[in-house]
Amino acid sequence: MKKRIITSVVITVIFALIIVTSSFIVLLNINNINDAKEVLSIYNICFSKGDYTNEDLSIYKFKGNSVRFTVVNKDGDVIFDNETSILDNHKDREEIIEAFSNGTGTSVRFSKTLSVDMVYYATKINEDIVVRSSVPVNNIKIVTLGALKYYIAIVIAVFLLSLALAVKLVKIIVYPIKELEKVTAKIANGNLNKRAIIGNYDEIGLLAQTFNNMADQLETKINDSLDKQNKLEAILESMESGVIALDNNEKIILSNPYSKKIFDLQGDVIGKKISSCVIDYDFINFIRELPDINTKEIKLFHPVEREIRVKKAPIISGSKNQIGIVIAIQDITDIKRLENMRSEFVANVSHELKTPLTSIKGFSETLRYVDDSETKNKFLNIIDKEAERLTNLINDILILSNIENLHKMESGNFRPKEVIENIIDIVRKQAEKKQIKIEFINEFNNEIIGSEDKFHQLALNLIENAIKYSNENGDVKIIITSENEYFVFKVIDDGIGIPENDIPRIFERFYRVDKSRSTRGTGLGLAIVKHIVKLFNGDITVQSKLGIGSTFTVKIKINKKFNNKI
Ligand code: ADP
Repeated sequence: MKKRIITSVVITVIFALIIVTSSFIVLLNINNINDAKEVLSIYNICFSKGDYTNEDLSIYKFKGNSVRFTVVNKDGDVIFDNETSILDNHKDREEIIEAFSNGTGTSVRFSKTLSVDMVYYATKINEDIVVRSSVPVNNIKIVTLGALKYYIAIVIAVFLLSLALAVKLVKIIVYPIKELEKVTAKIANGNLNKRAIIGNYDEIGLLAQTFNNMADQLETKINDSLDKQNKLEAILESMESGVIALDNNEKIILSNPYSKKIFDLQGDVIGKKISSCVIDYDFINFIRELPDINTKEIKLFHPVEREIRVKKAPIISGSKNQIGIVIAIQDITDIKRLENMRSEFVANVSHELKTPLTSIKGFSETLRYVDDSETKNKFLNIIDKEAERLTNLINDILILSNIENLHKMESGNFRPKEVIENIIDIVRKQAEKKQIKIEFINEFNNEIIGSEDKFHQLALNLIENAIKYSNENGDVKIIITSENEYFVFKVIDDGIGIPENDIPRIFERFYRVDKSRSTRGTGLGLAIVKHIVKLFNGDITVQSKLGIGSTFTVKIKINKKFNNKI
């Protein structure tokens, strides 16, 4: 830019100088030739007055050069010429022709006689004679060697002047443009608050002003889109669903933390192909399927077994072209598990209810045809026991559903010692039947906050189980004590114990270790215990060894408000 301005300014100035000087020279030459013609016309008159054959013609000078005089008669013969004697007929010379017809004639032309350019002036003296004077054109040209020297000096001076002018121009034009360029570069690099300085309101100033307006709008737009992006990022980060966006080449353009967790995606996955990150045939197939299938439930096996529900939607650009797809992933493992649990629970309840009912129905129908009182009594006992089992089962289901629906435990406080003594009185008969000795070690005389009824249910279930699953002459030990801030309740028996594999499942509804070992159990007792412990915000653990015995330990934080949801 700088170079171009300087060269064009210098060239323009030099060009202008050449045009002006050449036109000046041409004009001056014309003027000089006219002057010469005028002088020659006077010389012709003077010359014709004298006797030119004897006259000293050296007095006739033009710019220091001698003048050539020629006298021509009507036939064109040269009667006199002071410079040459070899002369041809001059009848055809234009100035001669003109002079004979008009009285005077001029011309500037090449002299065939002298072989130089000449300025001619011819004057008719009478009808027969024309006097013509002439000087070489060279003599009247103004550009001499001496003048050329000055001319070159002027050209150099003009060149230097135009160079200085060009540099000044560069400063005026290029400096603000350079400044504008610097600001543009800074803005392009993200420094959005930079603005161009407006020196004055010429074209460049107005350009800078327009540029600043554009930068203002750009800053507002970028800030707006940054705000939107931040909001979107915050939403995507905190979402409890996975979101993955892919371009048309199945390359990842967005993936939120939850989606990374679901598929165990490590590091930066942006720009990677989805098929190289997620190794699940069903999922990849779903992405590639036609757009009419946009929701699917898929079972994942890696990194952990999960059930997911995936949804896809096209991403449409401003020009209405599809530029990719966005996939939303929802983890429905818990929902599915709940659904399974619910249907399992219904199946279990129906099954558990059906068994005693079938038995009652069978024996009561057979009873019609039984006559002897002994069999009748036996059958009636069975019916009674099955009815009791049915009642127990329904009671347990009601208790469980009551606890499960309870969002807040009834407030109150109680002494666990009193509750346990009460339970021991209740189960004493049961224990005596199997000659089981119950020992109660009380190291906790304080009160705890919560529902006494619920604690009663909890303790009763654990103590009853200890008696139920103890052999004859067994020992059941009940301990209440405190450990740090916790109330600790232990039920220890030396009964049949629980196999190691079954321990994690004994708190599930209807789970019984071995159905033959507890024909009278409902399989709901420990499920109820677990829910009550949860209501107390406590914790229950089991230590058990097959054939040696079991210890159930409940820990509840002392002086805590128990209003937690189940
Ligand atoms: P149930 O009504 O069958 O006793 P629970 O939920 O109370 O149901 O107990 C579930 C299973 O845990 C029982 O079937 C039993 O096999 C086992 N169990 C519970 N308590 C004990 C214990 N103290 N000793 C041995 N096994 C036990």
